[in-house]
This record gives sequence, structure tokens and C-alpha cells, in this order.
Amino acid sequence: MAGDCAPRVGDTKALRAWRSRVPPEAKTGVAALGLRQQEDLTPAIRIGISSCLLGESVRFDGGHKRDVYLIETFGRFVEWVRVCPEVECGLGTPRESMRLIGARDGVRLLTGKTGIDHTDRMARYSERRVNEIASEELCGYVLKKDSPSCGLHRVRVYGAHGVPTKSGKGIFAARLVERFPSLPVEEEGRLSDPRLRENFIERVFAYSRLRNLFRSKWNVGALVAFHTAHKLILMAHSPNAYQRLGRLVAVARGVPVKELERTYTEQFMDALTTIATARRHTNVLQHMVGYFKDRLDRASKAELLASIEDYRNGLVPLIVPITLLRHYVRVHDASYLAGQLYLEPHPKELMLRNHV
Ligand code: SF4
Repeated sequence: MAGDCAPRVGDTKALRAWRSRVPPEAKTGVAALGLRQQEDLTPAIRIGISSCLLGESVRFDGGHKRDVYLIETFGRFVEWVRVCPEVECGLGTPRESMRLIGARDGVRLLTGKTGIDHTDRMARYSERRVNEIASEELCGYVLKKDSPSCGLHRVRVYGAHGVPTKSGKGIFAARLVERFPSLPVEEEGRLSDPRLRENFIERVFAYSRLRNLFRSKWNVGALVAFHTAHKLILMAHSPNAYQRLGRLVAVARGVPVKELERTYTEQFMDALTTIATARRHTNVLQHMVGYFKDRLDRASKAELLASIEDYRNGLVPLIVPITLLRHYVRVHDASYLAGQLYLEPHPKELMLRNHV
């Protein structure tokens, strides 16, 4: 697995094969038990997105908010499902701009100058659209920030005297996250923060693998293999959550299948929302070094530990010690570590571990 290059843009078959890959040591158990499906049958990773971010001229003023990173980099690995709530609910383009207004009965969506209330229209549309989205098999969603329809965090809500507080959610975005609490959802503005970007994309790929597992004819053995392959990923986010999930997997045979699927999904995805800090990554890296205790000579071990220390001190990016470890995993045939998706949880072309 480590070292595989992502295929070229447009090579759909190769892209799907790359996405469906599992660590070599996990192949026997995981592949046999459904984590990996026939390559050609592996579904694309479908991501919902606010249409204006793809360059569609759907904004109130007839413009767009084309996002180069999403289209040209992340877009290589996913299939977009575009949604513009304001156009799709019938408001047309161009249209009067809208904003959220705080009222006694909750937050309302009103046009800025004429004060037309579109709250009920948008609420009805959102209900219908999220029902449709349920069958779209999405693995993530990117929303346009600040929008009274699509914004997810700190959207302006205007009070009686026209003074805004950044306390709202867009009407459509609020319904989306309420309906799909485990779905990775992020705003495009926050994706310019490298830590939030890595966290979101890591969750997207993890959610895709989890959905592929539960879409297959899985059994408890397959879930154990999945959980084992994600051990170090989970440890980097939340050791407590890893322990909790481990206890769930240990009693899995006594839990009804649907309940097991729902509970594991909720807890697994919730664990990954915790940002993997440098301190936790350092703990995971040092844990991995332990596997080479008797296999590395003194100088190699010192070099490896020094690169981890440099990472901890912010002198080199995470990819540096990870690359060294991948090398030793291959050279020393460390089969347990080779099965850990932590070594490459997303395509290296996204360069998500290349920042300090
Ligand atoms: Fe449409 Fe949402 Fe973009 Fe506004 S922010 S133009 S509603 S997709």
C-alpha cells in the first residue's frame, strides 16, 4: 500500500481501484469479508457541494465562488453532487440577497431590502432535498461559508436593530447536519486551515471505507479486521474512543446487526472529528518505533527517533517520520504495521501531511 501513486485524472477505473485498496496484510481477512469489493464495482466517493464552489454562476448576483483546491486537487479523487438550495427552491438567478433574522419563533430567512420571508419555502425544500440525498450515498459535504442557506458555522443573524451576531447556521445546512450526523461536513473557508483540511479529508476516506464495509455482506470478523486496520488512526485522534470502540467490537456477536452498524458508525466517525494533535501523532509514532526494537541498529533507531522529535517540535512535517517508518515497515516486513491505514489514510498527492 505505502508508496502507491494515485492514478491520473480521468483514469476512472484506476482511481476506483486505488480508493478501494486495503493494506496487504489485511487483504486476506478484510477482502474476503467485504471491506474490499470487486474493483470495478467499488463506488466512487461522492461528495455533496454548494454549486457556486464549483464555479457555477448561481449566486444572488449571478456570480460564483470557484474554489481551485476543491476542483483541481480534491476533485481528482471524488465525484461531486452539486446542490444550490436557493436556485433549486425556485428563487432564480440573479435574485435579491437574503439574510437570517432573529425572531421570537426562531431564525427567519428574509430578503435584504424587500423583507420577503422565504423561511418556509427553504425549510420545505431542505426537507425534500435531504431525503433525496439519503439515497445519494454521500461520503462528505462541502458548504459555502457565510451563506444564510449553506453556511455551517458563525453565519450572521441580524437582531432587531440590525446588529448581527455570528451565531447562526444556514437553513439548508442546519437540516443537512441534523439528518446526517455522521457525515463529514465542512465549509470551504475552514478548509484553508491545513489541520481542518486534513481532518475533513481523512474523515471522508474513512467514511467511504466504512460504508463499503457495511454495504457488503459483512460479518463480525470483517468489522474486527476494519477496526484493527484503523487502530493507529483512531489512536491519533482519541485513545479513549479507540478503547470504547474496541469494547463494542469485543461484544459484537451479541449485538443486533443494525444496532451494531449504527453504533459503530456513530462512535467511529465521532472519534475522527477530534483533531489529531502533534502530541497524539507523536505517541502513535513512538508506539510504532516499539515494533522495531530488536530490528533496527542503534544509528537507524536514533535517526528515526530524531525525526519524530523534530516533528513534535514543529521542525519537520508529519510526512518525514511517516516516510521513514514506511521504509522500515517494508524492509523489515513488519506485517502488523503494514496493515495499518495510518501509514497512508488518503492519497499522498493531496499532500495533507506536508505542513508544519
Ligand atoms: Fe447557492 Fe449555497 Fe452558493 Fe448560495 S451559497 S449560491 S445557496 S450554493
